[in-house]
Amino acid sequence: MSECLDALKSRTPFVWLNPDYGKSAVLPYSLQDVYDAEARLARFAPLLAELFDEAAVQHGIIESELLDIPRLSEKLFPGTRMLLKADHNLPVAGSIKARGGIYNVLCFAEKLCLEQGILTTNDNYRKLASPEIRNFFGKYTVSVGSTGNLGLSIGTISAALGFKARVHMSADAKEWKKKLLRSRGVEVIEYTGDYSTAVAQGRKEAETDPFSFFVDDENSHELFLGYSVAALRIKEQLKLRGIVPDREHPLFVYLPCGVGGAPGGVCFGLKMLFGDAVHCFFAEPVDAPCVLLGLATGKNAEISVYDIGLTNNTLADGLAVGRASGFVGGLMQTLLAGAYTLTDDVLPVLQAETRQLEKLKIEPSAAAGFPGPEMVLKTAFCRQQGIKEENICHILWTTGGRYLPEE
Ligand SMILES: *Cc1c(COP(=O)(O)O)cnc(C)c1O
Repeated sequence: MSECLDALKSRTPFVWLNPDYGKSAVLPYSLQDVYDAEARLARFAPLLAELFDEAAVQHGIIESELLDIPRLSEKLFPGTRMLLKADHNLPVAGSIKARGGIYNVLCFAEKLCLEQGILTTNDNYRKLASPEIRNFFGKYTVSVGSTGNLGLSIGTISAALGFKARVHMSADAKEWKKKLLRSRGVEVIEYTGDYSTAVAQGRKEAETDPFSFFVDDENSHELFLGYSVAALRIKEQLKLRGIVPDREHPLFVYLPCGVGGAPGGVCFGLKMLFGDAVHCFFAEPVDAPCVLLGLATGKNAEISVYDIGLTNNTLADGLAVGRASGFVGGLMQTLLAGAYTLTDDVLPVLQAETRQLEKLKIEPSAAAGFPGPEMVLKTAFCRQQGIKEENICHILWTTGGRYLPEE
């Protein structure tokens, strides 16, 4: 424990293996909730197909590819089998937030309409694009606090449905993300503080307005379940490649982590679906390891990276979070295999290599999973679990970059 704290405080990259991994726990959700979320997305597919004419939104299902990366994997760690889950290229939002963020707003829209009696779950949801329902949505404001990508996701889907959309952006949010949002009809409010400040302000403002819905990144269960659907999708993609993971031939999945919701939701879905045929690892910047810190100390959201003298300054957009989501931290206590930290300087290098070797455009934070295979295989994890290294399929989960400007 003190060894772990020392590494965190001294900003030394290291891997933390979760001592509670695999212990039994009572979980608030099950695989059925993941299927329910997928069914809701399927109900909305005809509407999304109409709202977003991006060719990439196939039949209204927003999904990313699972890619071979022969050149990048040879560079990262020769001799291992690696695939890349290309959430950096998710249409509409351009990041993994397209999963949870869009889903969360769809839940709200559906609930409003069901309560009003203007929709049943057997209807074709294309009717939500009618002028009457758009006017009805226009009475409501959807807001969110964000370092950028969640705002892009929530703002875009909210404005597209006809809601008033307000995004509270922290100081570290990139200018191009604000500009893109404003061009999509979203109101962007800028703060000088960090992510938590933007969230707190947004939450406070929304509390006083009964026609306001605040997407709470730290506590939203809908967001979380929206992310979890990724597990069902990747299972099909793996099957098409003839990959059916089992205990002896497991998946190792590496996920960039901020507040914990996106990687936590994906991890949850994967663990419900694959059980001990999958092992998930979170990647966090040395200056913002909030989830690792919360899990390793057992203090979860009761401790922040500032409490141990770290700055939360990182160039990794979306990962600059000082305090974990308590709800997700609790869930990860037995489901997460481990987590590791990495320094910022490796991110732009990996980003450039990905561009050069695989022609993929990712943002720096999206590369945080890349050092994972080498770092984890250096630990005792495989020996403890009785896994042969050559049987592992490593999955690097890239999380943002589609709308990154060229310069
Ligand atoms: C949001 C985000 C993450 C992490 O998601 P959390 O829910 O904050 O943990 C990772 N990468 C990118 C690019 C993101 O935008």
